[in-house]
Amino acid sequence: MTSLPLVFDAPKRGLPPRHLVDLSPAQRAEAVAALGEKPFRAKQLSNHYFSRLTVDPAEMTDIPATTRDKLVADLMPPLFTVVRKVTADEGTTSKTLLRAHDGTLIESVLMRYPDRATLCISSQAGCGMACPFCATGQGGLQRNLSTAEIVDQVRLGAAAMRDGDLPGGPGRLSNIVFMGMGEPLANYKRILEAVHRICDPAPDGLGISQRHVTVSTVGLVPAIKKLTEEDLQVRLAVSLHTPDDELRDTLVPVNTKWNVSEVLEAARGYADKTGRRVSIEYALIRDINDQGWRADLLGKKLRKHLGQLVHVNLIPLNPTPGSKWDASPKPVEREFVRRVREQGVECTVRDTRGQEIAAACGQLAAEG
Ligand code: SAH
Repeated sequence: MTSLPLVFDAPKRGLPPRHLVDLSPAQRAEAVAALGEKPFRAKQLSNHYFSRLTVDPAEMTDIPATTRDKLVADLMPPLFTVVRKVTADEGTTSKTLLRAHDGTLIESVLMRYPDRATLCISSQAGCGMACPFCATGQGGLQRNLSTAEIVDQVRLGAAAMRDGDLPGGPGRLSNIVFMGMGEPLANYKRILEAVHRICDPAPDGLGISQRHVTVSTVGLVPAIKKLTEEDLQVRLAVSLHTPDDELRDTLVPVNTKWNVSEVLEAARGYADKTGRRVSIEYALIRDINDQGWRADLLGKKLRKHLGQLVHVNLIPLNPTPGSKWDASPKPVEREFVRRVREQGVECTVRDTRGQEIAAACGQLAAEG
């Protein structure tokens, strides 16, 4: 018996059908009207999604049953099924594996702290930036996520906090970081819309403060410049990883297009416009980028380009499967921090949550 090649069984990869969350409030009213329903139903639907965090028609009792089924079928096509949830750090870190309509797998990570809860979300399935130390970068880009797919990760995280799914009882999702899978600025239009849906007040958005949202980038200079003009208050994080172009060309291959000075100047523009300090991400890799002289150079360059409008976040490298690289020893890390600070630049070491469940920085690879 011959079996068909698998490709015939696989659903076509692509963005999901358009969803309420992909639309502006005005477009939602139009879409509802196009179905022959009163425009105020759009507000009711939005309220269910953004305030009550539900997509279940059974819970939408303020809308007549037949109308609700029609509206949900058209405006809220299913985005994800939860494949699996795994926890670490006594349950305070929770990684969710989600399957999209076309079989694409993505991950998000919820981290609860005493004073806040942070969700790390994905902006793309896979990533095209090919940074050699990052698990996502190894598989290449599968596709962009839609605005609704980005925001739905936040809805699920907000519902988990509200329902007390993590130890500590019911709480509120307070912070969002675009530090999961993908390069957010390579999916610019959709992440920008997503920021509005995440931050606009209910019932048009989830009501999370822009100041508590961080967009992290490898340094796509034109996109940083564009973001600067959007009048937002989100924090910008730049994954620098080394202050010199020679090494950065290999650690962050896109550096061959926009080099260290160009990236830092674009970051400066963002900091000047928003008044917000830029975070510099630096994954410390043993014997690769952890030398004292690099710490000095990093501090000097950041002072020169960004003055006081900068903060360095050192991330101990999370080794990815098969990687020859490792984190730096603690004394080397301490010395690195000391030397950066000596240049007058703030520097802290990020805690590494979720390491044992492959949920730490750069480990997200969605293997199914
Ligand atoms: N593409 C975006 C966001 C993705 S990852 C960006 O590069 O900024 C968020 C952060 O985790 C980035 O700073 C990334 O460089 C870092 N990272 C990736 N792999 C890592 C690893 N194995 N160990 C530690 N940090 C890693």
